[in-house]
Amino acid sequence: MNEHTEPDASVRLENVSKYYETAAQRVTALENLSWAVKPGEAVALMGPSGCGKSTILNLLGGMDRPTKGGVFAGGRDVGTMSERQLEDYRLRKVGFVFQFFNLIPSLSALENLELPMLMAGMAAHERKQRAEDLLDSVGLKAKGYKRPEELSGGEQQRVAVCLALVNDPPIILADEPTGNLDSNNAKIITNILIDLAAKRNKTVIVASHDPKVVEIFPRVCHMRDGLIERVS
Ligand code: ADP
Repeated sequence: MNEHTEPDASVRLENVSKYYETAAQRVTALENLSWAVKPGEAVALMGPSGCGKSTILNLLGGMDRPTKGGVFAGGRDVGTMSERQLEDYRLRKVGFVFQFFNLIPSLSALENLELPMLMAGMAAHERKQRAEDLLDSVGLKAKGYKRPEELSGGEQQRVAVCLALVNDPPIILADEPTGNLDSNNAKIITNILIDLAAKRNKTVIVASHDPKVVEIFPRVCHMRDGLIERVS
């Protein structure tokens, strides 16, 4: 366990409601939802567009605050953290993987991974080693010097997963991470995310509406209209 890993990286929503106020109306994204995921668990959040999946990830990721209720990670109340505490939380505790791979086009895979370490003040040799190790862990050791456009979509998303792991966060949140991939690459990425829970004790939550992706997960939470309707 390194210094960034909390002994308990459980995440929990307690009676959470989230409403978005627009000029015309109030949209209910989540309604009185209680839900928890433990370290070592990989959970798929499944449901049609608009059912509240991203809202859950945004709340757990400290990118938004609940209207009502508590959002907890490792025993800390994320919903009431100051902006500064949230910045630190997002940097150290959470790794995000998005549908669009979020890599800088002009940098190689290795440089993309090294950039956040450079910003964190890590020494050059340490950065390179860590970036190489991360690429190796997803089968891309030989492709470190390639730029995103020289990699396939599946390879780019594997680099993006590495990017989420740069600071070794205990919580991994992925929003439609396979939305741009063919089914073979979708399976590869999904299995990498599931392994992060099984082999490295991360807390992994993946939002997806793709049944083929979701069926691989040990636990699936089916959502409808801001609520978790069924767990399988
Ligand atoms: P999903 O990820 O399952 O597609 P979301 O969590 O993005 O669903 O959205 C849940 C509901 O909240 C939807 O009705 C959506 O339109 C609404 N919503 C999400 N973000 C906003 C926002 N910033 N402003 C207004 N409504 C929003």
